[in-house]
Amino acid sequence: MLLEGAACGRDCGTACATMAPMQTSLTPPHRHTRALVLFSGGQDSTTCLAHALTRYDHVETLAFDYGQRHRVELEARLAVRAALLQQFPVWAERLGEDHLLDLSVLGAVSDTALTRDTAFEMERSGLPNTFVPGRNLLFITLAAALAYRRGLDVIVTGVCETDYSGYPDCRDDTMKALQVALSLGMERRCLIETPLMWIDKAATWHMAYDLGARSGQAGGGEALVELILEHSHTCYLGDRSQRHAWGYGCGRCAACDLRAKGYAGFCSSVKRDVSAPAALSPTPPTPPTR
Ligand code: ZN
Repeated sequence: MLLEGAACGRDCGTACATMAPMQTSLTPPHRHTRALVLFSGGQDSTTCLAHALTRYDHVETLAFDYGQRHRVELEARLAVRAALLQQFPVWAERLGEDHLLDLSVLGAVSDTALTRDTAFEMERSGLPNTFVPGRNLLFITLAAALAYRRGLDVIVTGVCETDYSGYPDCRDDTMKALQVALSLGMERRCLIETPLMWIDKAATWHMAYDLGARSGQAGGGEALVELILEHSHTCYLGDRSQRHAWGYGCGRCAACDLRAKGYAGFCSSVKRDVSAPAALSPTPPTPPTR
């Protein structure tokens, strides 16, 4: 996200430039050190969590219980956190509290395949019936309120405009508008960082490998990829009975399809056997251009 402004002087990426005031020699740059990650336990949010743990000194996680059809998502996030704590001691020092907020009202007001027992299909609007209207708007507004109370500088979310199924609340413009609204409404700079906004699922696997490799942990790249394969959950149907090369899932729903294709693309680009984990080339991918 890039609006006008000056960088903070730390390697905080584009988020720090967002809405930053003009810096002068008399104004020391603000150093962002504390982040809140919207962490659902899926591939994307796990990669975002690794990103935040690489970049910030203190990181807390947040998820919402909104009456999801399948509870495995909420269980997966605890498994991911536990595995990260065990396998990445450097990150364990930075990983702070986990928050789970009850947002059951969302299930009551929305009619979606994520919260009721119905088939997944495309609707006349062109959106899949997994779309929960305004979900990310609510999530990030509540995240901003929590971040305010917890003294956290940056909200990190895995929304993405590349593989986003047409969800309008995943768009970059939506995030920018929300950032402005929240910053004005709370009279406090609210930074929304979206590290996955312009990359596809294959590049997200690359990013995870790269973050793991940079963690300082021996074999960290491969370890983080394997951790995500084993513990993160993406499948809309909540199926964890089948383990594929790309992780658990039904193998048929749109979420499984995206994840499987992304993993296949990742394996292809690093010459990794898609059905048998092996040593990877650490060469990072070239992200798609906007
Ligand atoms: Zn599935």
